[in-house]
Amino acid sequence: NKQVIFRDYVRGFPKESDFIITSATIRLKLPQGSNGVLLKTLYLSCDPYMRWFMECQSAQNSYSPGSLIYGFGVAKVLESAHSGFSEGDLVWGTLKWEEYSVVEEPVKLIKIQHTDVPLSYYTGILGMPGITAYFGFHDICSPKKGDYVYVSAASGAVGQLVGQLAKLMGCYVVGSAGSKEKIELLKNKFGYDEVFNYKEEQDLDAALKRCFPEGIDIYFENVGGKMLDAVLLNMRPHGRIAVCGMISQYNLDQSEGVHNLLRLVVQRIRMEGFGAPDYFHLNAKFLEAMLPYIREGKISYVEDTVHGLESGPAALIGLFSGRNVGKQVVAISTE
Ligand code: NDP
Repeated sequence: NKQVIFRDYVRGFPKESDFIITSATIRLKLPQGSNGVLLKTLYLSCDPYMRWFMECQSAQNSYSPGSLIYGFGVAKVLESAHSGFSEGDLVWGTLKWEEYSVVEEPVKLIKIQHTDVPLSYYTGILGMPGITAYFGFHDICSPKKGDYVYVSAASGAVGQLVGQLAKLMGCYVVGSAGSKEKIELLKNKFGYDEVFNYKEEQDLDAALKRCFPEGIDIYFENVGGKMLDAVLLNMRPHGRIAVCGMISQYNLDQSEGVHNLLRLVVQRIRMEGFGAPDYFHLNAKFLEAMLPYIREGKISYVEDTVHGLESGPAALIGLFSGRNVGKQVVAISTE
């Protein structure tokens, strides 16, 4: 049973050496007296929030040095002593980064009912990032047809979906990303109206003014820092900023200040943070909306897949240098 162990708390950018791959022989049986499930891991998800868990925090959410890391993933039930699960069930939820796991309290695992789509989708478009994009856009941004929408980190797991949901709503949508390949995807695959590579722009304010001569109604915030400051200068009256994340700040010892917050007052802007777990109870409603988009080809979805647990740490830290093109998935086993 291969496992990924957290070496020690991280400062600055995480490195592959912050993780240790180990292998141990195990009995593929639930321990005696267990009330849980024995799982075979199929896919693991690399998500930016995992960086927060690498900090030494007093909150119980930090990874413990010397223990396994965990995150969202998809698994198959090999054995169950829990009345809610049976052998052969497919589930998604929080999993330890190992090939086989015992989960003693599986109540938070979500059973996968629809298997006509790739199972890896439950780490992304049909899982936590999909829920983030869907409710973050529809609930927090209050979108209307014709709104001017800007999405940063626009080709990633969440961004690619927000951009397409905004297009389906009839909005004008601009996305930014950090490489030529990603810019091509935004234009040619996800249907963004206008795009720019933020790494090639000297002046982000000027880039936004070029793309939004009339200003921005909705900003879906994924990166923070200088980008947020430039966006604040370009928001229209009564604009909405959905604060999904601020990945540019996660590896800094101290976050950069934001200078233009007074624009919130001047322009009557609503800026609101949210978290995917706020919406997990609406999973059925979410699937009802998202599955037809996938089945009818109304939404495209791009994954970046590496294979094997040993490839996991590099894929995870790659999120912070933009190595991933689309949703970063680690495929552990396909059956
Ligand atoms: P992505 O798939 O978008 O991967 C991360 C991307 O962020 C990288 O590929 C890179 O793309 C970009 N990036 C990395 N560092 C920087 C930087 N310094 N400045 C600007 N861009 C950077 O990740 P997700 O879609 O999973 O997550 C996107 C955001 O949404 C994150 O902030 C994350 O924390 C947040 N999130 C929030 C959730 C919630 O519940 N609120 C749930 C899920 C995600 P590029 O090449 O374009 O730079």
